Amino acid sequence: MNTVRFENKDIIPSKILCVGRNYVEHVNELGNEIPDEMVIFSKPNSAISQTLQSTHLGESLHYEGEICFLFSGGEFSAVGFGLDLTKRESQSRLKKKGLPWERAKAFDGAALFSEFVPFSDLNEEFAIELTLNGARQQHGTTTQMMFKPLDILNELSRFMTLEDGDIVMTGTPAGVGIVKTDDVFRGSIICNNREIVSEVWEAKA
Ligand code: ZN
Repeated sequence: MNTVRFENKDIIPSKILCVGRNYVEHVNELGNEIPDEMVIFSKPNSAISQTLQSTHLGESLHYEGEICFLFSGGEFSAVGFGLDLTKRESQSRLKKKGLPWERAKAFDGAALFSEFVPFSDLNEEFAIELTLNGARQQHGTTTQMMFKPLDILNELSRFMTLEDGDIVMTGTPAGVGIVKTDDVFRGSIICNNREIVSEVWEAKA
């Protein structure tokens, strides 16, 4: 089973739950409708990787930088940066037909994470920043989210059991795009004007 890092321990997520369309500007950039209920999909443990690939089975991948929370003891106990890698062409094709998104979202290597770090208060504003080759590409805050972290946790918990070690990806702000070989991505999470965690990935062919 794949793992993520939290306080020098390897944690095995049983699942990764993802929120779609949580920032208005990103909904608009993809031409989607504003959802009337939370859009939720999942990635299996096998999607977790440390390596960023620019393609998978010949299809190009798109990056989505996201604020991610690690669940344990009945609450979100740590925060990290995550990349939700997406086969946008496949996703568009599946969406048009009303079909599930696993082929576009759940493949091997579709979920990359920084280490996870503790935080003091879930109601603080968290911000995410993603730079691509040194230039800021994505930025967003929990204040801009349609569904806030606690809303997400409550909604998920209504219909499914979160296990210790599970990860929730809270959606991506505007600025998504294609991953090109040799691109350098740096993702970070900021809280109280302080960067609390970051990670760098270089895209492989
Ligand atoms: Zn996403």
